[in-house]
Amino acid sequence: MKDTKLYVVIPCYNEEEVLPETSSRMGALFTRMQEEGKISPESRIVLVDDGSKDKTWQLIEELSEKDSRFRGIKLAHNAGHQNALLAGLMTVKDVCDCSVSIDADLQDDIEAIPAMVDEYDRGIDVVYGVRNCRATDTGFKRFTAEAFYKLMKVLGADVIENHADYRLMSRRALQALSEFPEINLFLRGVVRLVGFPSSQVYYARSERFAGESKYPLKKMLSFAFDGITSFSIKPIRLVWGVGFLACLIAVAAAVYSLVAWGFGKSVSGWASLMISIWFLGGVQLVSVGVIGEYIGKIYKEVKRRPRYIIEKTNV
Ligand code: UDP
Ligand code: MG
Repeated sequence: MKDTKLYVVIPCYNEEEVLPETSSRMGALFTRMQEEGKISPESRIVLVDDGSKDKTWQLIEELSEKDSRFRGIKLAHNAGHQNALLAGLMTVKDVCDCSVSIDADLQDDIEAIPAMVDEYDRGIDVVYGVRNCRATDTGFKRFTAEAFYKLMKVLGADVIENHADYRLMSRRALQALSEFPEINLFLRGVVRLVGFPSSQVYYARSERFAGESKYPLKKMLSFAFDGITSFSIKPIRLVWGVGFLACLIAVAAAVYSLVAWGFGKSVSGWASLMISIWFLGGVQLVSVGVIGEYIGKIYKEVKRRPRYIIEKTNV
C-alpha cells in the first residue's frame, strides 16, 4: 500500500454541463486507484472555479459536501485558464505529494493518470501527457496547433509537441514552479525551465462530451502570441533585421536614382516615392507594434499585480 497523496487540479469556467460527468468519472478512477493501493485515501480532486457565470461553483460546493475527496477553490474573477490552473497548483503544492492538471471536459484520457503516477513512483518529477493522435480535433484546430508548435520551436522556446496542460508534477517541481513570479505565465514553457527528471505518457485525445470550447479563436491566438512574446526575444531581432534590410534597399534605390539622374533619365519619381513611403511606414509600424508588445509586458510585470485572487476555498 503506497501512500502517494495525489491532487488532481481541474480549472473550470462555465462548466456546469460537464461537471456531473467529469466528477463521476474522476471519482470512479480515484476509487479504483485507491483500491489498487496506488494512491492514498487522502488524495483529492481540486476544482478551481475560474469566475464562472453559471452554476459551476454551486455544483462544486454540493460535490464537496457529498464526497470529501472533492475540494473547491473559487476565484474572485475570471483569471484565465493558465492562472486558474496556477491558483490550483499553488494551493496544493504544500499538501500533496504530486499533482495532475487536467481540463474539465476530460478531452484528455483520464486513464493516463495511473500511468503518470507509476512514472512518479519511479522517481520522475514531471510527467507530460502527450497526444498521440489528433483525429478528433477539427482540421483547423489541428493545423493551427501544429503551426503553433513549429513556430515556438523556430523562435527558440522549448515546448513539447502535442502536450497541453495535462501533466503530473511532483511536490518539489511545484515548489520550483512557485519561484517563477512572472505575470505573463505560459505554464507549458515554464515547466520545461523547472527541469528535474521528466518523461512522457501517451494517450488519445477525445472530443468534448458536453458544452462548448471556452477557447474561441480569439483567445487561442492571444494565448499563442503571449506564449511567444513571453519566451522569445527573436521578434525584436527580426525587427532589427527588417530595418537593416530596409536600409539596404534604400541605399540601392538611392544609387539607382542617382545613376538615372546622371544619365538624364530621371522621371517624376512618383511611384518610387509612394512605394518607399508605404514601405517605410509599414516597417515602422510593425516595429513599434512589436516593441510595444514587450513594453506592455514590462508594464504588467513591474506592477506585480496578483495573478489570481482566491475568494473561497476548502482545500
Ligand atoms: N478555462 C478556464 N478559464 C478560462 C477558459 C477556460 O479555467 O477563461 C478552462 C475550461 O473550463 C477547461 C480548460 O480551461 O477546463 C480548457 O478549456 P476548453 O476545453 O474549453 O479548451 P479547448 O480544449 O477547446 O482548447
Ligand atoms: Mg477542451
